Amino acid sequence: TKLVYTFGSGQAEGRARDHDVLGGKGANLAEMCSLGLPVPPGFTIVADACSAYYTLGRRIDAGLKNEVRRGLETIERATGRQFGAKDRPLLLSVRSGARISMPGMMDTVLNLGLNDETVQALGHDAGDARFAWDSYRRFIQMYADVVMGLDHEIFEEILEDQKARLGHELETELTAGDWQHVVSLYKELIEEELGEEFPQDPEEQLWGAIGAVFASWMSARAVTYRQLHNIPGGWGTAVNVQAMVFGNLGNASATGVAFTRNPSTGERSLYGEFLVNAQGEDVVAGIRTPQSITEEGRINSGSDRPSLEKLMPEAFEVLSGICAELEAHYRDMQDIEFTIERGKLWMLQTRSGKRSTKAAMKIAVDMVDEKLITEEQAVLRIEPSTLDQLLHPTIDPRVDRQVIGTGLPASPGAATGAIVFTAEEAVAAEEEGRKVILLRVETSPEDIHGMHAAEGILTTRGGMTSHAAVVARGMGVPCVVGAGTMRIDLRNERLIGVGVTLKKGDIITIDGSAGQVLKGEVPMIQPELSGDFGRIMGWADRLRRMTVRTNADTPADARAARAFGAEGIGLCRTEHMFFEGERIHVMREMILAEDEKGRRAALDKLLPMQRLDFTGLFTVMHGLPVTIRLLDPPLHEFLPKIEEEIVDVAAAMGMEAAALRQRVEALHEFNPMLGHRGCRLAISYPEIVEMQARAIFEAAVAAAQETGSAVVPEIMVPLVGLRSELDYVKERIDAVAGEVMAEAGMKIDYLVGTMIELPRAALRAHKIAEAAEFFSFGTNDLTQTTFGISRDDASAFIPTYQRKGIIEHDPFISLDFDGVGELISIAAERGRRTRNDMKLGICGEHGGDPASIHFCETIGLDYVSCSPFRVPIARLAAAQAVI
Ligand code: ADP
Ligand code: MG
Ligand code: MG
Repeated sequence: TKLVYTFGSGQAEGRARDHDVLGGKGANLAEMCSLGLPVPPGFTIVADACSAYYTLGRRIDAGLKNEVRRGLETIERATGRQFGAKDRPLLLSVRSGARISMPGMMDTVLNLGLNDETVQALGHDAGDARFAWDSYRRFIQMYADVVMGLDHEIFEEILEDQKARLGHELETELTAGDWQHVVSLYKELIEEELGEEFPQDPEEQLWGAIGAVFASWMSARAVTYRQLHNIPGGWGTAVNVQAMVFGNLGNASATGVAFTRNPSTGERSLYGEFLVNAQGEDVVAGIRTPQSITEEGRINSGSDRPSLEKLMPEAFEVLSGICAELEAHYRDMQDIEFTIERGKLWMLQTRSGKRSTKAAMKIAVDMVDEKLITEEQAVLRIEPSTLDQLLHPTIDPRVDRQVIGTGLPASPGAATGAIVFTAEEAVAAEEEGRKVILLRVETSPEDIHGMHAAEGILTTRGGMTSHAAVVARGMGVPCVVGAGTMRIDLRNERLIGVGVTLKKGDIITIDGSAGQVLKGEVPMIQPELSGDFGRIMGWADRLRRMTVRTNADTPADARAARAFGAEGIGLCRTEHMFFEGERIHVMREMILAEDEKGRRAALDKLLPMQRLDFTGLFTVMHGLPVTIRLLDPPLHEFLPKIEEEIVDVAAAMGMEAAALRQRVEALHEFNPMLGHRGCRLAISYPEIVEMQARAIFEAAVAAAQETGSAVVPEIMVPLVGLRSELDYVKERIDAVAGEVMAEAGMKIDYLVGTMIELPRAALRAHKIAEAAEFFSFGTNDLTQTTFGISRDDASAFIPTYQRKGIIEHDPFISLDFDGVGELISIAAERGRRTRNDMKLGICGEHGGDPASIHFCETIGLDYVSCSPFRVPIARLAAAQAVI
């Protein structure tokens, strides 16, 4: 196979599409060359040669040597210079370039080919000895650093000493003679440190640099980076060898970097920086402050140093033209590097530029208007998960973060407040207008009102589908869970973090997008939804096939979700309604009742409250589909747990504390998630279902009268494993429906379906579908029951699993396609075999995860349902899944 691809003089053996072979940098250099842009001639050694180098035990193979020689000759022909010649010597840059740009790879070596003789020739040629010696000292410093492994700082010390000795401030003040002296000091230093001379043979220098690029592929930093980002070690890196052009050849020379559009706002104007009389690394190293490329940029930054536009208007014109041409060609914003040598502009790199979410939106929309890309392409340009940044306040990226704890990024956005340790304190603080962060070891349904009142929530235990995480996401409240590096000392009301102990009232900031806890108040950026957002979402809505619903328990959540574009409710968890205010007492009365009669009496009190909830939901949703799940959690979740609470509750209910304690103990379960919950409750206590069904149907009648549009309630039975379970519950629902219709003198359309959240249900879907009119995949429980991993305890070992490479993703965040996914496709297929028009949806947390949404599209689900703040993400992801 071909190991070396040449480029130069308007011709190139490679193209942009060859980036897997040539690396990103090499492929784009070839592409720019074939577009006829001014690129210094050079060649790229393919990435496979790097792998071969390792196969050969870190040796360069003879075939590569020959091809490199051919490559060198091509550069020599194109430049009319010769590598190593004592007259018109050719100098080279040697650069690494993998398929994707990667920190930890070798730095670039510039000015390669200089030695004690060629430096004279270079100075003579250019008529500038100072430039030649400056280049030579740069070369020695870089080569010694990246190839010979000598820290560049010791060279800088020498340079500083010399400047001090000569009384100079700036490097530009050093003369040819000064630099020559610096070079001799550098060479002495190398001999002292390494016991060998700086290599004078250009061939040896070249192979030294190529070998160093190959070797850097296996540097510790590069290896770690690849592990973190799942990049295969077998890729290897390409090497780019290119003729030097000189930005340090006097005041008509310069070097710089630019974006073809503004990467933070997306505005369509060139944006970048340059330095006069400098080489590339000076811009990055920050030795001198760079200047703005455009006049506009100069004015905006308040600088009085001239822009490139003013200083070198001709080169600027060429640069602007090239940027426009590159954009038209790549149809995307480019990030470029250039050098101007005595007025002539050379292109050294181009790639698609990184940008903020806001800029990404604007650029995509503008490019559609400019007819550079289609609406489909624009939709594909936005990474759905980045929409979070647009919907929540975020921490100003410029601030230094003082991290005192880390956990899981459970609900995005950042929040600041004083710490409190109970839900009651959070509620009290809200009433007084104080902002607080609620700290709990873990939350339970009783904390809901406090979670609402707090600006943010922090727990030290629990995973991404723990109660705190699910509820916070639903509310759109920033939340960090499972911050195991922190400890809550409840008795003394203290939070112990990394190197700090905080007490009640101290201020912290949590970053729910990063899973970090920071000390004190931190500057934030407020979200702003621009018109670009609306247009992109409009295109996404036109393209997607699946509907996007929301998981909402209250009219307020439902309203928020509608504003984000939700097209129905995919999951209303009715139990959340039973924790509010007075209801918990009535609920407890029901649970503690001696017999059915007592239960019915309590349920009669709950009925009007539930009816009101549903009327509210139906009214907000105005005829859109609403799926209501019947009571799901084990009953003891509603009862007091600790002794003090038991005493209080017993007193409030007028019963003996001992009797209550006994009842609580009787309801205790060893494994509640697999215990007396879901439809099992409905079968034990059918009167609960009857009350809930009545509330739903009566609310449907009321809402239909109020809004004039009929709702079609979808009643969902949780945790079904057997068809007979569903039959039993459905019978009760149908009976109540008949009664209510007769009473109201009105027909109500409704559906009864089930959640598929047990493997047995998935496997028996064809049978269950005989009774179920829809399925909704409850993937939180389905993941839990398929893996046999408790979702509340997963955070204790899932991170270890990920670190040790046992699993790639947390299956509670991104659907496990192979296992859980297969059960879903089996259930979908078997369910539709029985009932071919059956509506299928997903309502687990995965309904808001872009990769999981993609999966739902491929198996043909009808809708995904997610928390309100994820609705825009799901709309976009669902569109991308069909493009
Ligand atoms: P990075 O991946 O860090 O951007 P590059 O390989 O792009 O590394 O090189 C860094 C800098 O070196 C470039 O921005 C450019 O200024 C300079 N450089 C690279 N090749 C040449 C060359 N042929 N002539 C002059 N300068 C060069
Ligand atoms: Mg670069
Ligand atoms: Mg469930």
